[in-house]
Amino acid sequence: MVGDDRWHERYSRQLVLDPIGEEGQLRLGETTVAVVGAGALGSNSAEMLVRMGFGHVRLIDRDVLELSNLHRARVLGDAHVGQPKAHALAKELMALFPEASIEAVDEDLTAGNALALLEGADLVLDGLDNMTTRYIVNDACMELGIPWVYGGIVVTGGLVAPLLPGGPCLRCLFPEPPEAGSLQTCESAGIHPSAAGVVASIQVAHATRLALGQLDRPRLIALDIWTDDWRVMDIEARKDCPSCSGSNREFLEEGPGEAVTSLCGQDAVQINPARRASIDLDARAREWEKVGQVSRRGPMLVLDLGDVSIHLFTTGRALVKGTAEVAVAKSLYTRYVGN
Ligand SMILES: [Zn+2]
Repeated sequence: MVGDDRWHERYSRQLVLDPIGEEGQLRLGETTVAVVGAGALGSNSAEMLVRMGFGHVRLIDRDVLELSNLHRARVLGDAHVGQPKAHALAKELMALFPEASIEAVDEDLTAGNALALLEGADLVLDGLDNMTTRYIVNDACMELGIPWVYGGIVVTGGLVAPLLPGGPCLRCLFPEPPEAGSLQTCESAGIHPSAAGVVASIQVAHATRLALGQLDRPRLIALDIWTDDWRVMDIEARKDCPSCSGSNREFLEEGPGEAVTSLCGQDAVQINPARRASIDLDARAREWEKVGQVSRRGPMLVLDLGDVSIHLFTTGRALVKGTAEVAVAKSLYTRYVGN
């Protein structure tokens, strides 16, 4: 119970911590945080948020836990492989902390449901594995008037920045989304778990400062845990930013965006990204060779993963064969092509 002896003992090291104190702890207890993505970043940050006594944690994730996720995850283990990530993480955290308030949303956050899924959150933490969804989260947060903390990791590096309603927002940093297939992914380039731990820790520090009104100088941190290279840059709202300085919410509009179609009777899903890419299939083949069997079939590169295969064209269009599930195909596309 808030304010009783157990509460004082549980949070004693935060109650004597100058920037938090009793007033701050009470404020954290009234704060709702939505964590989008329950993988490497999300499981790290969610565990910390719950331990610290944030009032309500909403976990949103579309994926199922795989054995290859475990080296960088927290809380989850072998027994959870095959379970929906958000559901499994919420269940285990509730078992550890029965007094906590945690909610699992096992859904793909899209342009169509982003506002509904993030509604009621005081702030949002990014645990995503793709830029497409980040632009949707950005527009949704600007629309709802709530801050969010961007976090990205790949190989041994990470990026983290608090983004505020009124700016700076994601589009102040990166005005347009990258082309499909232009960024490295954890699947083919790898990821060191420390990068996830560090970035998630900074995100939770930012979340705490935002909840307590103590973050007034937003900065982008770019770090590498292998080279010890850390750069901290002031970031500012762009006056011509369509999202935070205007009312453009183009990423919340469904329509000519990414088209994902389950191909009837074929056990296949087609993914057609909104922005035409120009993927170097030779370079992609060299990366894919590390994760599966690769063959070149004319204008198309095929990655055979056993039960499923990805057939990729230079434009970024892909056919995912071996599944008729749109969510499964989108998840594979994000991992092996990147978006
Ligand atoms: Zn902006």
